[in-house]
Amino acid sequence: MTNPVQITVARGDGIGPEIMGACLRILEAAGAQFVTEEIQVGEKIYLAGSPTGISREALDTLFRNKVLYKAPITTPQGSGFKSINVTIRKALGLYANIRPVMSYYPFVATKYPQVDIVIVRENEEDLYSGIEHRQTREVYQTLKLISQPGSERIIRYAFEFARLNNRKKVTCFTKDNIMKMTDGLFHKIFDDVSQEYPDIITEHKIIDIGAARAATQPETFDVIVMSNLYGDIVSDIVAELTGSVGLAGSANIGDKHALFEAIHGSAPDIAGRGIANPSGLLLAGVQMMVHIGQPQVAEAIHNAWLKTIEDGIHTGDVYKEGTSKQRVGTDAFADAVIERLGQKPTHFKSVTYGAAELIKTTITPKIIRQKSLVGVDMFLDWSPTEGRDPEKLAEALQELNGDGLQLIMITNRGQKMWPDARSETYRTDHWRCRFQSVGELPVTHHRLISLFQRAINAGFDIVKTENLYMFDGERGFSLGAGE
Ligand code: NAD
Repeated sequence: MTNPVQITVARGDGIGPEIMGACLRILEAAGAQFVTEEIQVGEKIYLAGSPTGISREALDTLFRNKVLYKAPITTPQGSGFKSINVTIRKALGLYANIRPVMSYYPFVATKYPQVDIVIVRENEEDLYSGIEHRQTREVYQTLKLISQPGSERIIRYAFEFARLNNRKKVTCFTKDNIMKMTDGLFHKIFDDVSQEYPDIITEHKIIDIGAARAATQPETFDVIVMSNLYGDIVSDIVAELTGSVGLAGSANIGDKHALFEAIHGSAPDIAGRGIANPSGLLLAGVQMMVHIGQPQVAEAIHNAWLKTIEDGIHTGDVYKEGTSKQRVGTDAFADAVIERLGQKPTHFKSVTYGAAELIKTTITPKIIRQKSLVGVDMFLDWSPTEGRDPEKLAEALQELNGDGLQLIMITNRGQKMWPDARSETYRTDHWRCRFQSVGELPVTHHRLISLFQRAINAGFDIVKTENLYMFDGERGFSLGAGE
């Protein structure tokens, strides 16, 4: 007998309490050994005045228990509310989001009978840093942060996952034809790490064609690894292909903590009617059982669930005249799974789970011998009443040259405007002005501050500055389009 594990349970909002009740009943009937501690997160906590939807006490419980089984929550409309999912992921260091997606054809209608994909999504960085600013009247920015350790960790996780689960291929999606530094880093690390896994087929696709192929030829993919935003979008596209968002579960894994949930939301349109499909949350519960070292429970539930689907006992979201036999609500569906515990599917391949092998990922420290400052990008809010003429701006900025620094380029939304530029693009009030070193004088932070001082004295509104560095002789900044 396995020792009971303490897990945190959040029943969530909307259909959350209905599906969580059904799933806990199935887990208990299958002999799962755990003790639950409940926390309240979500809509009520938001509306009581917490911008994060989670109290400090609830967070303490999460840190203590290590495993969270969470039903979907409702994020209230309007600004000022932070996503609880992002808060929990970052607080607990849940860097890997694992979403297995499968078709259950012919029992669940789908145009894509052969989907069997696992999406491995980076969960903590990228455009989800939430660092956004309005810099001028016309221009807003968000920061996309991609780190070497964050990328290496998720890519290694994808390869280790593939190996452990007997998967044959790992595909990586990026947009490195445009974002050569951030997405380029992710792609390069993918290429480097793949060398250590010669037993696994690897491929890279630009995200646009990759997403299009995932939506039209999903059977050609096996494991797909992506940074945060692409992973978020592509995993919903792929899940939708299988017939219902109600069918997929997901695991969020960190070195110390894990969170298991359905991929869908709180479905307020059907809440309280007892008709929601508990399958997504249940399959997340199966992943949780493997994670906490009770693979025999995971196996019994997964096989009983497959048998229930095969027997045509379906909730409304997947029910179809002809293929389904019985339309049931949430509780009756759970009863049907419980009745089948101990049975195996006859059409689908039955599943087997072994002892959980927790994936540990390593990070190769990046050694940089020389980081040198070579200039600065100064971003200005500049919109004189007489018109936005880059030549005039360059003339005024060249007055600031000196101390080893010289204006070498002006761009607007990344498009080169000066020198020798022809562009019909709209000129916003947001200008990036690049000063770089000339001659022998080294660039120092003090010299940059003097430059900013000269710019302020000349009446410029500096909205942001970005230092230009070389790392062991390699440029650490992009060139302007047309440069
Ligand atoms: P949703 O996933 O809740 O619903 C989309 C559609 O799918 C609806 O028609 C719904 O009825 C249906 N559906 C979803 N789950 C189902 C199930 N188990 N059984 C049957 N039908 C199901 O997406 P939404 O409507 O965009 O979002 C509703 C709320 O959920 C929002 O507040 C959103 O912020 C939140 N949300 C939470 C999570 C989470 O907690 N992890 C994830 C996504 C959305």
